[in-house]
Amino acid sequence: MKALPEALQQLIGEFSKLPGIGRKSATRLAFYVLNTPQQESESLAQSILKVKKEIRLCSQCFNFTEKDPCKICADPNRQKSTICVVEDSQTLLLVEKTNEYKGLYHVLGGIISPLDGVGPEDLHIKELLQRVDGVSEIILALTPSTEGEATSIYLAKLLKLQGKKITRLARGIPLGSSLEFVDEVTLGRALQARDEV
Ligand code: ZN
Repeated sequence: MKALPEALQQLIGEFSKLPGIGRKSATRLAFYVLNTPQQESESLAQSILKVKKEIRLCSQCFNFTEKDPCKICADPNRQKSTICVVEDSQTLLLVEKTNEYKGLYHVLGGIISPLDGVGPEDLHIKELLQRVDGVSEIILALTPSTEGEATSIYLAKLLKLQGKKITRLARGIPLGSSLEFVDEVTLGRALQARDEV
């Protein structure tokens, strides 16, 4: 490694911080950038900066957006009486892809995980409780892991105190599997056949 110029070593270091990228792939990516025309690498660098500069969280649902409120919250055709609670924006996208859901969302920004030091106060739970007036159903679409289950139970308890109908994705999604790995059809079915908590 010492034989490599410092700037290249630094780029390899940055790439290896990315999820799923080991030292070997990071080195390959860094050499790719090095060999790529100036214009292409500038466009890559600018896209990274643009994402950081122009994308923020929607003040209502906490989804990533360029405009506040986001497209979904601002869409008059979405049903305002239903909120689907998801862990992150990636899960929101998965639910959108099923084409089975026409309501609003609420992105928690994670799930309760004491081992990782994530408590209820670290998530957008308070904001969820503040926006359920006039909402008739809240769908909990969290990962069916131990932490996801615990978070669902915690939320259901709080929301029931406010007299809300709480539903969750139907069983059939393998326990412990991340929603990321569930196909659209299965997720769509689980959404349609949701159970009341
Ligand atoms: Zn929004």
